[in-house]
Amino acid sequence: MSISILKFGGTSMSDHHTWKKVLSIIGSYDQPVVVVSATARTTRMLLKAADYATEGNTSKKEAEVAAIQNRHIDIIDGFLEGSSSTEFKNRAFKHLEACIERLNEYLNVIQSEGSISLKNRDAIASIGEQISSFLLVECGKAAGLNCKHIDARTIIKTDSTFGKANPDLNKISDEIKSLQLNIDAGSIPIMGGFYGEDENGDITTLGFEGSDYTASLIGAALMAETVEIWTDVSGVYTSDPRFIKDAKPISNLSYSEATEMAYYGAKVLHPSTLKPLQKLDIPLWVKNMFEADADGTKISNAAASAKTTLALSFSTDICIVTANAPETLMGYEFLRKVFATLESVNLPVELVTTTEASVSIAIPYSDAVPQLISKLLSFSTVSEEHKLGLIRIIGTSHSTIGTMKTSIFEGIDKTDIRMMSFSKGKKNLNIIVNEEDLIPTAQIIHTNCFSSN
Ligand code: ASP
Ligand code: MG
Repeated sequence: MSISILKFGGTSMSDHHTWKKVLSIIGSYDQPVVVVSATARTTRMLLKAADYATEGNTSKKEAEVAAIQNRHIDIIDGFLEGSSSTEFKNRAFKHLEACIERLNEYLNVIQSEGSISLKNRDAIASIGEQISSFLLVECGKAAGLNCKHIDARTIIKTDSTFGKANPDLNKISDEIKSLQLNIDAGSIPIMGGFYGEDENGDITTLGFEGSDYTASLIGAALMAETVEIWTDVSGVYTSDPRFIKDAKPISNLSYSEATEMAYYGAKVLHPSTLKPLQKLDIPLWVKNMFEADADGTKISNAAASAKTTLALSFSTDICIVTANAPETLMGYEFLRKVFATLESVNLPVELVTTTEASVSIAIPYSDAVPQLISKLLSFSTVSEEHKLGLIRIIGTSHSTIGTMKTSIFEGIDKTDIRMMSFSKGKKNLNIIVNEEDLIPTAQIIHTNCFSSN
């Protein structure tokens, strides 16, 4: 029997109406294996409760915990309303209470310490998935499905890089045998995504949006037929449809195109998701829960179709820091010092332009930027520009600025371009504009690039 991994994200898991939909999709497959996120916003609420605990704000912390507990009680009450048996509800509530108790224990520790370790942060962040997966199993059983809860810790074995742990593929392929036994026994395994366990038995997480990654790890370990990411949009889009009016779903992408998009900020998938699947040629679908008939996007090994441009992404709150070399430093020595400084503050660089006497670096603004500037000031003069926006034109096949002129730049000749980088090899064009020009400029470029393909 062919196995399909079905992953449902936070928005699919938001209330008891969507849970019914999730379970009806699960019930329509021959042999599904299910990976779920926490219910919508729960991970953020958990981390907020942790922040309040760190600050010693007991009342806000307790309010946050109560809100987390209540939203899950509402889902269970809503889903099981009218159910003749109390057995599912009792088990669900017992599990919920145990999870909330554990959460409170962690919160007390961080409150008394006044700080949170990455390890405790992971343990807290994982509670959303621990709750949602178990509760969904009980609802599934109440709906007549032979669901079986799998604790992700028993399968997703990782190293101890808390916050962004690396899975141990050998251990996972060993542990998957227990899940296979459940499949052979005719059950539908349901597990939480996003978290796992290191070799000391401590909970780890795979990073933001990590449930996608869990789904692909499970898909690869089981040699599944497909991995399907069920979300609230009809696939991977050419750009963010909330801001760009003619953004449209892309029907086919190759693994490398989709990985490229994930790395360059198109909010598609956890960037590591495709790695385990590509080797085994297991296709991944992105599908819309609320429009099950829409085609969605298929990501596979199929040859990439000839696209002029893949996608366009953008971000706000970018700043440019320019360091000017003193006359005493040679050009290459100066460059080395600037990049070593960047490394020391651990800042991701979006764009760089250099002359022999200066380096301009575009970076997302964060608390590390003032640190960077004070370190650069010890050997150079520095200027800063703020409130900028970055547009990334991803996977463009244009090889010369000449051909870009009309197909990308037409209509933005009056736009104040603050910085730009293009590399034919990388097929990416990055443009920095003033923040207020960001969406209008991105819209024009998107229309130029996608209206005809
Ligand atoms: N709940 C986690 C997050 O919000 C993981 C996921 O949903 O993929 O990032
Ligand atoms: Mg997601």
